[in-house]
Order: sequence, then C-alpha cells, then structure tokens
Amino acid sequence: MKNKAPQTAIIHSDYKAPEGFAAFPQAIHHASTIIFKDVAALRSGEWKDKNSYTYGLHGTPTTFTLEARIAEIEGGERCLLAPSGLAAIAMVDFAFLQTGDDVLLPDNIYNPNRVLGNWLQEAFNITARYYDPLIGAGIAELILPNTKLIWTEAPGSVSMEVPDLRAICAAAKAKGVLVALDNTWSAGLALRPFDLGVDISMQALTKYQSGGSDVLMGAVITRDRELHDKLANAHMRLGLGVGADDAYLVMRGLPTMKLRFEAHDASALKVAEWLKKRPEISTMLHPAFEDCPGHEVWKRDFTGAGGLFSVLFDERYTEEQTDRFVDALKLFKIGYSWGGANSLCVPYRIQAMRRGWQHGGTLVRFYVGLEDTADLIADIEQALAQL
Ligand SMILES: *Cc1c(COP(=O)(O)O)cnc(C)c1O
Repeated sequence: MKNKAPQTAIIHSDYKAPEGFAAFPQAIHHASTIIFKDVAALRSGEWKDKNSYTYGLHGTPTTFTLEARIAEIEGGERCLLAPSGLAAIAMVDFAFLQTGDDVLLPDNIYNPNRVLGNWLQEAFNITARYYDPLIGAGIAELILPNTKLIWTEAPGSVSMEVPDLRAICAAAKAKGVLVALDNTWSAGLALRPFDLGVDISMQALTKYQSGGSDVLMGAVITRDRELHDKLANAHMRLGLGVGADDAYLVMRGLPTMKLRFEAHDASALKVAEWLKKRPEISTMLHPAFEDCPGHEVWKRDFTGAGGLFSVLFDERYTEEQTDRFVDALKLFKIGYSWGGANSLCVPYRIQAMRRGWQHGGTLVRFYVGLEDTADLIADIEQALAQL
C-alpha cells in the first residue's frame, strides 16, 4: 500500500532487516497473534504439529527450541512447556485422569502435588491414594482396575527416600498403568527415566535448568507420540503457554547446567560429609549416604546427586533450638526452591507431613549453592554453636 499515513506506516512498516544474521542465542519471538499467509494456511493449521505456528499459546520458534533441548537432556522425544513445575504436574493429571479414575502418589511427593491430588479427589471424584515410596514391586497390590496413573518422585525432595523405579514401572506396565516421574531433583542429568520404564517425566525448569532463581517454568517430557498428544490437548485446554522472555532465560542457563550440577554435587557431598561427623546430626538423608533409605537403588540407577539433601537433628534438640540454628545461618538463606547459585535452608515438620515417619528429630533441608565450600561449612559451624 502506497502513501500510508505516518500512523499506519509505523504499524505496517516496509523496512526489512537484512537477511543472513547469525548469532548463538536463540531469537526471542514475542507473539500472541501469529500471521497466516492466506486463508488456506489458517484453515489447515494443525496446532499439535510442531512444524507450523497457529497462536502464541501453542508455540513459537523460541519455545519449540527450548522444548527440543529439554527433551534431549533425558533421552525423550517430545516436550511441552508450562508456566511452572506445578502447572506441568497439573497438565499430566488433567491429560490422563478423569472422574472415576484412581491415582497413586508416593507419601513423600512434592507437597503441592499432594494438595492437587487431594483436590482431584474432593472436587473431581478421582481417588488419590498414597503409597510408601519404598514399596517397589509391592505397588502391584495397590493397583485397582480404575488406577490410571502412578506418580513417582526420585527421590522425594524433602525426606529423600529413593524409589525403585524399575520395580514400580514393571508392575505398572504389567497392568497397563502409566508412570509419571517428578525428575526435578536430578535435572534429567543424573537419572535416565525412560530407560527405567517411566512413561512421562516432569521437570521444574525453575531449578537447575534456569539456574538463576529468577524464573518459573515446568516441562513434561515423553517418548510416546500418543501420550504426547494427550498432554498437548491438556496443555491447550488449560492454556499453559509460557512467555518468550522466560523461555530465553531458561535457555541461557542450559549450556552450563551440567557443569553447575556437578559443582553443586561435589560441594553438597563435602558439606554433607562434614555434617555427618557432627554429634548434633543423627541421620544424613542424602542418597549418596548409607543412612538414606533407597541408597542402594540410588547407586544402581543414578550417576549423581546435585545440591539438595536433608538431615535429621538428634532428638535431644527441640524445634526451638533447630529453628535457632536455621535463623543463625548467614550464607544459607531461608527459602523454598533451589537450583540457583545461592545456598538455601528450610526446616520441615516432617512428622506431620509423612504417615508413619519412624524418626524423631527435626528435619532440615539444605541446598548447597555455588559459594566456596569452606565458607559454607564455617557458616554451618557458627550456627550449630547457637543450638
Ligand atoms: C520446585 C518443584 C516443583 C514445582 O516447580 P515450580 O516451578 O516451583 O512450580 C515440582 N516438583 C519438585 C520436586 C520441585 O522441587
């Protein structure tokens, strides 16, 4: 169109930037509307195919690229992004559960996943039952004709029991039940879920993938096309799109994730080894330590541990004392989540969270960041003196 008014020209500019631009970062495509070249293209849009574009919610080159990279990390084929790890969990539940179905969850599951399970039960007439995370092949006895999904988490991110995923998956497969894994703890680096028989892997990209403590995002990864399509339906119906800037932030963290994970892993082991020798601590709930339930399974199935572990204080310390310890820490900040550079610490009332918890003593969870390990140990030492 010739002779446009300036107000139209700034919206419909004729300028085109030169072709041939090349750089390492993935371009950030901001879009709600995606433009179709003609009506035929609009009508032919198959939004589930990742080889075309229909609407910002269903993907842009930025989000498709991040999805492909996340899927590759754990040997999956396809991935869907969600605005948080919890939204990714909800996508799985809404994709595979309907009224009258039954879902099994480990008793140490990430607590918001349990809250969601309880809501499914109360509001949607889906039964949510909880099992001992160390049940292994015994899960077979809990599977009912209407059981459609078994959630697992390896390990549970507070009490740290490592489940026998091979045994759970084998029992589930024999009865045609899907297994979903919250694989956030290992970032998809230290555990290959699909090789163990897991059908659906879920990640909170909020953690190590981003690495910046500055973005919330989740992912659901599959190998099976049919499962992916069901997830894509739930993703679309629930409107779980992610913003391009957030996708970029996660992509910016990805190339260094393995190096960061290994650094967290090595530092956490040093801090945990130091803590293990302390008389104030009764139990190391770190999968690389023999005290930790499921340690043998961890040795068999995992190649690392990352920065997150818990300890139990000796029963002679009251909660008031262990709270004083947490308050006295200076480098370890009090806060949820993990995966960034900063060390964190959270006390949990585990006896109220876990049915049949056998131990006394306060549970305190540590996340070991990227600070100098000697400084972190000195910080813990001065805080222990406040007990
Ligand atoms: C953080 C976390 C989630 C949820 O991720 P958000 O992005 O914070 O919603 C889920 N599972 C585990 C194990 C987590 O640590």
